Amino acid sequence: MPRILAVDVYQVAMPLKYPWRTAYGEDHTIETILLRLETSEGIGWGESSPLPQPHYVEQWSAAAFLCLQQCLVPAVLGRSFGSPEELQQAMAFVKGNTFAKAALDLAWWDAAARAQQKPLYQLLGGTREQVPVGADFGVMDHPEELLPLVEEAVAQGFPRVKLKFRPGWDLPVVQAVRQRFPELVLHIDCNAGYTLRDAELFEQLDRFRLAMFEQPLGYDDLWEHAQLQRRVQTPVCLDESVRSLHLARQALALGSCRWINIKPGRVGGLTVAREVLQLAAEHGVPCWVGGMLESALGARHCVALGTLPGMDYPADIFPSDRFYEEDLGDPPLVLDRDTSGRPVACPLEAPGTGTEPRPDLLRRWTVNHFHAHA
Ligand SMILES: [Mg+2]
Repeated sequence: MPRILAVDVYQVAMPLKYPWRTAYGEDHTIETILLRLETSEGIGWGESSPLPQPHYVEQWSAAAFLCLQQCLVPAVLGRSFGSPEELQQAMAFVKGNTFAKAALDLAWWDAAARAQQKPLYQLLGGTREQVPVGADFGVMDHPEELLPLVEEAVAQGFPRVKLKFRPGWDLPVVQAVRQRFPELVLHIDCNAGYTLRDAELFEQLDRFRLAMFEQPLGYDDLWEHAQLQRRVQTPVCLDESVRSLHLARQALALGSCRWINIKPGRVGGLTVAREVLQLAAEHGVPCWVGGMLESALGARHCVALGTLPGMDYPADIFPSDRFYEEDLGDPPLVLDRDTSGRPVACPLEAPGTGTEPRPDLLRRWTVNHFHAHA
């Protein structure tokens, strides 16, 4: 049974190539948490990226760093765990703080896979070797900027396009894209930018045959989403609202969604992600993999998750050069093509995620670090 011997946690500010604009704001850097776990059986790396401010959910990277330093790491250091479920149990005394918990959980999975000399996706139970990925576009100044980019994504064979959606960048944008691409698989991500008072807007959007409305209403809401889902034909997809297995269970019972976007960081790690996926499948609700603009290291955990059965919509997994001049993760993530020429992310056939942070970039971009050992 592996014993946790030492933990290093790094809060890292990764500069983006250009700001990423959504309903909750504008990010110039992605603040991520890297965690190096040393167990009696070897090492593993985890990454969890809650953003620099608490504007996606109530968590943020500085708080995740402190939660790990003051609460989670002291609780697990020196202890042995036979399974990731046991590790989750040891972290359960901390309420919420899923991104902090995920950093430990993901490092645990990576260490376990490396110790067994297996790629992470195999240890996780993945059944496919290619994960279809989509193209995403943030809020821009003018729709004229967007259309050529969507055209390029379509030409590159991306199987679906996701548009960020917020007041002022809303219905006319969808209308313009739909007019130009009548058959494109298209959906919007509202990042909790609306309330039930805007239900009419979503009723009007039904005519554009979108694949889903991602997180239209409050980040902590389930009930209003259930009301909205009854009023619209387009499936509602929950992202922000599903931050635990318990919340997933309530969402499914209430009928709040017909899709769930699963991010390992938001739900507390791969262990919980797998449980949410299983529960959703029991309710006939398909899932897909989201992302938080992690480095290639964190993105590799997302790729592994995307190989599981039940992940039925192209993932938000991006090649390194989409958002970063230099990627903290080594090797950087590049997309492959499937037999019909569509972009896919393939797990590396190396132990664990097969990815480590670049030491030079880790040194340059770390804003906080702590080391603890048993
Ligand atoms: Mg989202």
